[in-house]
Amino acid sequence: MKLASKYGEVVQESLHALLEDQSFLPNFKDEDRENAFKSLESILSTPNQIQKSFLRVPLENGKILRIPAFRVQHNNAVGPYKGGIRFHETVEEDEVINLATLMTLKNALHDVPFGGGKGGVVINPREFSEKELHTISKTYVQNFCDILGPDKDIPAPDVGTGEREMDWMMGEYKTIHPGRPYRGSFTGKSQVNGGSLGRREATGKGVYYTLRYMLHNFVKENEEWFKRNDNRFAKTALEHSDRPLTIGIQGFGNVGSVAALESYNCNYLDTKVVAVSDRNVTLYNGDGLDIKALIEFTSNHKGDLPTTEEALSEHEIKADIQEREDVLYLDTDVLILAALEDQIHENNVDQVKARMIVEGANGPITLGADRKLSEDGVLVIPDILANAGGVIVSYFEWLQGRETQFYSEEEVFSLLFKKMKETMDEIYPQFFNDPFALRQNCYIHTVMKLSNILYRHGKLY
Ligand code: GLU
Repeated sequence: MKLASKYGEVVQESLHALLEDQSFLPNFKDEDRENAFKSLESILSTPNQIQKSFLRVPLENGKILRIPAFRVQHNNAVGPYKGGIRFHETVEEDEVINLATLMTLKNALHDVPFGGGKGGVVINPREFSEKELHTISKTYVQNFCDILGPDKDIPAPDVGTGEREMDWMMGEYKTIHPGRPYRGSFTGKSQVNGGSLGRREATGKGVYYTLRYMLHNFVKENEEWFKRNDNRFAKTALEHSDRPLTIGIQGFGNVGSVAALESYNCNYLDTKVVAVSDRNVTLYNGDGLDIKALIEFTSNHKGDLPTTEEALSEHEIKADIQEREDVLYLDTDVLILAALEDQIHENNVDQVKARMIVEGANGPITLGADRKLSEDGVLVIPDILANAGGVIVSYFEWLQGRETQFYSEEEVFSLLFKKMKETMDEIYPQFFNDPFALRQNCYIHTVMKLSNILYRHGKLY
């Protein structure tokens, strides 16, 4: 299944499960109940607004391009729309709708007081100069300025965008709205421009934290249950006390490289990153890769990992060079997916050997592949739970901008982990009912929260 119809379907499935549960929304009976659920389904599975615009961008070579761009506002029952803007050549309307839907669900799950939105620009940012990217970012804000704002819709970085683009966009927003509050109009800004300490690392840190909390806290506290259960994940989780767990990471950008560094520095879990990959290669070392040296290399080579023996030996990095996709099929205990969507699908899921997968990217496993992984006893920590660190620290950035009072890095991470722990404590205990339904549990939980709010707003007919 394409990501294009994924989260709308997920909302529908969760509502069907809740319809059977008479203790949920007990005031509604029979026909009224069916109508209330129909209204929930139509509200949550369709976006409030889809805006498309063509950005007119003069290039340095004198040509003029009209670039398709989107902003989708899915739902704002909980608070202003919130979600990233991605710059990628495969962006299309349905995908942006889906990702906006996921933001509504993600924010509600973690009690972040925002709704869901997402933006996209159909470009490969590597093909544009810095000046042209500046123009694209400014024009995006000009074309969508009516629907954006600190209390309306707050964009943030996503695939292909970062601090630089958010700084440019906030600058343009400020120019368009003189004398009006502007700090909370974008998050993921640079620190000198009102960004939060720790925002850049937040997603990768949160991804590793979900793994750490599962293996270090949860498995230890429930060891007896794990001993009684004989599946791929339970066996590996118990072995963790005797040997380091091996990790493979797909994607070595903002999320993958930070998760790798967390593993390298972690005192709680004994893990070693044996493989990392990017758009060009997989690098493998069974004894563990030198993550610090790789991060140093990528920061001097436009984000790319070394691809030749010469580059590796020049930087004293020991690794075998393998095909880009190989990281997905290696015999590692854990696989962290931190690249793009739809990476594990029906046609390659049988080759996956990992016992546990963490979704650092949004939607990296198709629904069909996900079902197969559950049947095979592979534990998946889903995107909605695992990669929320980014938007949670975006929320802290927005708060700090309002208070004009800034938190230390230590405070940011301790608040982040506290928030993620609260969600995991709500979700992980349900693990004992069905260990491989973590994703469905997250969805049902979040759809329940959203439904309660919509009911209290008087939106159900
Ligand atoms: N783009 C990130 C996500 O998908 C962060 C969004 C935000 O910070 O608003 O969760």
